[in-house]
Amino acid sequence: MKFFCTLLMVFCCSALVFSQDTEECFIPKIETDTAPLHYSEKKLPQRVSDFEPVTFNIYFWGFRLEDNTGNVAFNQENIDNAVRWLNEIYNQCNVSFNLLGTEIILSDEHYILENQIEFLSMIRDMRSNGYVREDAFNIYVSNQYFGFGGAAAAYFDTLAGIPAVKLIDSGTIQHEVGHCFSLLHTNQIIDATNCESATRDPNNKYYNADITGDLVTDTDACYIFTSEIDTDSCTLSSNRNDCFGYPYTIPSSLLHNYMTIGAPSCTKDQFTNGQFVRIRQAIELDPEGKFSKARVD
Ligand SMILES: [Zn+2]
Repeated sequence: MKFFCTLLMVFCCSALVFSQDTEECFIPKIETDTAPLHYSEKKLPQRVSDFEPVTFNIYFWGFRLEDNTGNVAFNQENIDNAVRWLNEIYNQCNVSFNLLGTEIILSDEHYILENQIEFLSMIRDMRSNGYVREDAFNIYVSNQYFGFGGAAAAYFDTLAGIPAVKLIDSGTIQHEVGHCFSLLHTNQIIDATNCESATRDPNNKYYNADITGDLVTDTDACYIFTSEIDTDSCTLSSNRNDCFGYPYTIPSSLLHNYMTIGAPSCTKDQFTNGQFVRIRQAIELDPEGKFSKARVD
């Protein structure tokens, strides 16, 4: 690792320069495989109202170049807005975030992340250099990412990363924190061995919404989109069938769900009740003990 230090945050107001990037995000695959297992370990409450309100600290780390320039979007106004976005959605399941603080890290190495391997390298550096607050969620903000729009270090963990532009464009930080709370993409994990049936009738012999896909039963079965989306109305005209021959029925609301990928033109503004319950169950499970340490109360 190159020269590396932190300093108190100093804000500047020069012109912002933003990157093009994709809406795809990154989370290590191995965690995808293990995340669902925790949920079968014990009986969990099934309604959001079963859970007490909880508040977490959140801490933002911003990377600047080693000459202490760049990443001008990492400023108090934008960080305050990002915390407000988180609270707007997570308050709906009685989860709140309290901004504990911000800090600048000077690092040419982590200023731009060229790929997902570099994200993991950044996370390793943060851990080994003590730039992780155990008493908070940690959001690492590079100036730019290439090839992905955001990342979470692991499920049931408190570390995520976004490029600075995502302090301006709402949606990604809510998505990555969703991964921290073990939410999966609504429309990604579909293959021959894990094919979510479109049926939502629990008595149908092909019903498997609770054990496939994103493991949430009120997010409709879906798949990685190609070009079927009407980007003006955010609707999907699909004549595709699931693996069992049932037609996919994908409501517009799924395209506005924070955890749906591949529809970047559709504003993200919602989770389903099932996702909220899964979030609260994840906090209850807390298999790594990370959430309890990050709690304010
Ligand atoms: Zn994601």
